[in-house]
Amino acid sequence: MAYKAEYIWIDGTEPTARLRSKTKILADGAELPIWGFDGSSTNQAPGDNSDCVLRPAFSCPDPIRGGDDVLVMCEVLLTDMSPHPTNTRALLSSVAERYAGQEPLFGIEQEYTFFKDGRPHGFPPGGFPAPQGFYYCGVGADEVYGREVVEAHLDACLEAGLSLSGINAEVMPGQWEFQVGPLSPLEVSDQLWIARWLLYRIAEEFDIAVTLDPKPVKGDWNGAGAHTNFSTNAMRESYEAVITACEALGKKASEHVENYGSDIEHRLTGMHETAPWHEFSYGVSNRGASVRIPWQVEVEQKGYIEDRRPNANMDPYVVTRLITDTVCTALA
Ligand code: ADP
Ligand code: MN
Ligand code: MN
Ligand code: MN
Repeated sequence: MAYKAEYIWIDGTEPTARLRSKTKILADGAELPIWGFDGSSTNQAPGDNSDCVLRPAFSCPDPIRGGDDVLVMCEVLLTDMSPHPTNTRALLSSVAERYAGQEPLFGIEQEYTFFKDGRPHGFPPGGFPAPQGFYYCGVGADEVYGREVVEAHLDACLEAGLSLSGINAEVMPGQWEFQVGPLSPLEVSDQLWIARWLLYRIAEEFDIAVTLDPKPVKGDWNGAGAHTNFSTNAMRESYEAVITACEALGKKASEHVENYGSDIEHRLTGMHETAPWHEFSYGVSNRGASVRIPWQVEVEQKGYIEDRRPNANMDPYVVTRLITDTVCTALA
């Protein structure tokens, strides 16, 4: 029987790209071909030369349609088959290949916020809920909003074969997190983009919208980040390498922060478990530092670090490339 392939790609919306997808029907057993789309409708091409190319990069079972149907994460190419300027995956590929010998691993904590009727899910019309304090990892109808979507999303990701490592309710009502990894730079990024697509798609069924806005509510409410946990084989063996990694990130702090997601200065204020965006710091157990060394890493004298700066709306192809490049160069 014919099967359905959902081709998913990243568009050219600025400052934060969005996901797009469309369905291709393929003959039973047929391989995934390259395909095309109208780049003039996605901010990726002018109308008089509108064709862009989709090249399958990663595919997995489609947990929504089931059967033999698949989800396909694509790279966008120009018609001469070179990477489109918006194709951040192509840049990551070459960096990941260069440093593959150091076996970099990433675990990304994706935070996000549900919106219902134009306000964060759980916020009353025209006002605010009780202040933050009991929502994080909470339980009960007065503290938790959207769990049915979160559970459906988790099941879908696992059915798709994605390496989720956990989920939790976050500090602001309607705000949640899932974690992907630890995986190699390309794997974690492909899987995170597919997991994001599944989140939007499944929330659709509940008439709920999802935003990766890093500061969805101004004022005394937590923002949404994408803490990026990272290690290399040397860091997994020695604390000295862990410290070298932190120092290397400090030397390139501004280049990293500028590429960790739009509006980062609104989230990294120095309040709400963040360090100010213009100052770099690292420390053991410190959730007010740019980079945290988990306490057990200090105890065991080896392990990984948590870069707490990336925004929820970051591009994992960009963030994992910068961290791999900066740290692996220093450890080479
Ligand atoms: P937090 O305490 O900051 O909320 P989480 O449990 O949400 O931490 O996320 C920690 C992440 O770190 C997980 O995705 C996990 O897979 C990842 N991780 C664990 N060990 C490593 C490692 N050695 N290298 C990279 N990532 C790791
Ligand atoms: Mn977490
Ligand atoms: Mn979190
Ligand atoms: Mn974290």
